[in-house]
Amino acid sequence: MAASSEIRGRVLSVASECVPLIKTGGLADVVGALPAALAKVGWDMRVLIPAYKALRSKIDKMDEVWREPGLFGGDAKVFSGTVAGIQVMLLDAPHLFDREGGPYSGPGGDWFDNARRFAALSWVAARIAREGVEGWKPDVLHAHDWQAGLAPAYLEYNGADGVASVMTVHNIAFQGWAPASALTDLRLPFEQYHPAALEYYGGLSSLKAGLVTADAVTTVSPNYARELMRPEFGMGLEGVIAARGAAVSGILNGIDSEVWSPEHEPVPYSAKAMKGKSENRAALCAEFGLNVPGPLAILVSRLTDQKGIDLLEAVVPDFIDAGGGLAVLGSGDPALEAAVKRLQTRFDGRVGVKIGYDEALSHRMFAGGDAVLVPSRFEPCGLTQIYGLAYGTVPVVSAVGGLADTVIDASPAAISAGVATGIVFQPVDALAFAQALRGLIGLYADKKLWTQIQKNAMKQDVDWAASAAKYAALYEGLTK
Ligand code: ADP
Repeated sequence: MAASSEIRGRVLSVASECVPLIKTGGLADVVGALPAALAKVGWDMRVLIPAYKALRSKIDKMDEVWREPGLFGGDAKVFSGTVAGIQVMLLDAPHLFDREGGPYSGPGGDWFDNARRFAALSWVAARIAREGVEGWKPDVLHAHDWQAGLAPAYLEYNGADGVASVMTVHNIAFQGWAPASALTDLRLPFEQYHPAALEYYGGLSSLKAGLVTADAVTTVSPNYARELMRPEFGMGLEGVIAARGAAVSGILNGIDSEVWSPEHEPVPYSAKAMKGKSENRAALCAEFGLNVPGPLAILVSRLTDQKGIDLLEAVVPDFIDAGGGLAVLGSGDPALEAAVKRLQTRFDGRVGVKIGYDEALSHRMFAGGDAVLVPSRFEPCGLTQIYGLAYGTVPVVSAVGGLADTVIDASPAAISAGVATGIVFQPVDALAFAQALRGLIGLYADKKLWTQIQKNAMKQDVDWAASAAKYAALYEGLTK
């Protein structure tokens, strides 16, 4: 479907990452996918992100549209242009963003001035939202995660001029904490330093600032929206979220079905013609040096505590014993990298591990794997289980956040109703995970049932269109 001819409204989306320009996680996928999906339902979205060192070369082909002298220690400009079909604005503030390393950290760890760096992004976002740029004036400012959390706050405290604001939480574990002494430096009003506004455990949190000042709060799955009101998941912000009540909602992420479709892989397949999948499986086994009689599970993930990677050492030996195999792609915590490498050494030929970040390999893994493991302790939405659904690579997931919203467990009832799409386990511990893997072995052995589950999974509507319609309805409610 082409972009809608009628423009219903304009949105300035503010974030620290956007695919295909810069990505460290799922946030970037969402920020990069929303503009095209929203255009189809009449919402004109532009994305503001920092001009990190790696992005400065893009500026040459863009137009200067904004000047911001004296932006937290230096002069800044904003450049605008279309990159990969997305209308992007890059905040060029060399004193804050022209540095070697990732968006948040350099060789020595996190940048010491991250609070200021992203306050600067948020400051410019609020100014552009209020004043418009080159005749383009947004109706809504949409802030993503803590890095943009101060944008709704600056709007609220300095005058919103009719611009509505939305704060989306992609991961509440990152809260953008700063000491109370940073208040003035971050251009925040002293009189708002109290528990119902900016104060957060004796300091400040840019995410909290966004949560209390935005007109609407969203998170990336309905289940995570509910979880965030509980201490186990809210990570200190549960009271703040609960207090926003009906202003909080959950909208599931979609995936780009042009990029993530088994029909677009080198050896294509579909729910109707699955043959290509076994070819992909054979190629994947060869690539990882594996020979697996039972289900070949894949895992594509940041290797962190959040993702439940530490559970693997306890559950994989039995899974291998029962005929399973495992291919892992990921990087992160050195102790967890070492743990998966130990499994590879111990189960050579049945467990394969690649440490690193490799988008192309991840595609080959979804195309060739039988199942994808996502044993997260918390998961705001999760993307790899959704790729798994689209590829008939049966998701085995813990019952948290968006994982519980997107996968239907192969319980006897769901099997007889013909709706099962994967395996869902709880609680998030080795016992339940091991049982889920035994379940996987059993399902895989029943070829008819296995094929049925794969097909159910591949039939799920996981494209961005459904999510975009929900965001559009939210914007419309805020602006009508
Ligand atoms: P999170 O944002 O918490 O890391 P998500 O599941 O929401 O988790 O998104 C992770 C995204 O990053 C997915 O698109 C996943 O495929 C991708 N990804 C994670 N690790 C790797 C890796 N090592 N190589 C390639 N892609 C990866």
